[in-house]
Amino acid sequence: MLTQTGRAKNVRPNSSRNIDVAPAKGSESVSLLHSKMEEQKENILGQDENKKPADDPAYVKAACPAQSGIMAPVTTEPASQGEFSDPVYKEIAMANGHINRMSREELRLKLSELKLDTRGVKDVLKKRLKSYYKRQKLTVSPGEAEKSRQFYDFICVVDFEATCEESNPQDFEHEIIEFPIVLIDTHKMEIVDSFQAYVQPQLNPRLSDFCIQLTGITQKMVDDADPFPTVIRRVVNWMQERELGTKHRYTLLTDGSWDMSKFLNIQCRLSGLRYPPFARKWINIRKSYGNFYKVPRVNTKLSSMLEKLGLQYEGRPHCGLDDSRNIARIALRMLADGCQLRPNEQLFEGQLLGVTGSTPLEGAPPPNNPKGRHH
Ligand code: AMP
Ligand code: MG
Repeated sequence: MLTQTGRAKNVRPNSSRNIDVAPAKGSESVSLLHSKMEEQKENILGQDENKKPADDPAYVKAACPAQSGIMAPVTTEPASQGEFSDPVYKEIAMANGHINRMSREELRLKLSELKLDTRGVKDVLKKRLKSYYKRQKLTVSPGEAEKSRQFYDFICVVDFEATCEESNPQDFEHEIIEFPIVLIDTHKMEIVDSFQAYVQPQLNPRLSDFCIQLTGITQKMVDDADPFPTVIRRVVNWMQERELGTKHRYTLLTDGSWDMSKFLNIQCRLSGLRYPPFARKWINIRKSYGNFYKVPRVNTKLSSMLEKLGLQYEGRPHCGLDDSRNIARIALRMLADGCQLRPNEQLFEGQLLGVTGSTPLEGAPPPNNPKGRHH
């Protein structure tokens, strides 16, 4: 783990956004509330430090981890002209220029010739083809290409469901009512396992009708469930059994900033637990998706991300486990398209912050049962 000082150096204060939500007006329609909620969940932190132009050779270099053995070490220093005089970068730039001029049909044909996925909107297809050529030019063998891509052995996708009211007052104390994890094996490139537990809320034990309707979670399901401190112990056991953070490098991934910065943060406070160190950093897939496919951040809600990839939602929206599975499907597609998913958000002293490109790449620490706040 980084030291306090090391971390502080690498983080940027989130001065412009508060992690709490603005109150929604009671008179607004449910669908409007839904889309407002989605925007708020986004929690855009302003300019993303990790964002680099995709076609910039400096990005090509910086995005490759040092341990790949293929590229120079990770750097965020601006590249000097000379460093990219290698003809290979010129070739990549030329290929990118050519791809930019291709029509959607031409892109689909080319991808199909290369036996690559042809689903998705034009920007997605472009990115897929550019990534393919970039990997072809910059890697020696498919094995090395794979190594350079997969720093993490596993990615834990988490999508909490929480108590809520239709109007969601600003100071509403959301309690987690479903804790799902979907485990992605980045080498097998598939979902290999999952965990699901409902959680009994303590502060507001009775679910609102709105919450039941939204999440499909019934009063009986939470009445029969364990309270959060027991559930988090089960989660930690589950992760330990899978040797995450010990034998295997792993990280967490969520859809938006809220799961960790809001739901888990509030829940730990309410349960009198310290925020667990293993959940301090995570990948906000909306941010990664927007940067990778060059999609405006307003178009990165779950349904839009799926749609742009030519995928359909599978299961029941707002069921935490189904949401997690669908988020995992997006992550898998991004990995297949050559995206290096990296933690891009963190909670530092209760504040939601970005993670800079210069932060050393590391796995999340081994999970441990969270300590009480006053120990
Ligand atoms: P989601 O991951 O989109 O299913 O949302 C996670 C949690 O956010 C839900 O369990 C609710 O507590 C809250 N939430 C999501 N959408 C809404 C909404 N439209 N109105 C109120 N709360 C919501
Ligand atoms: Mg959900």
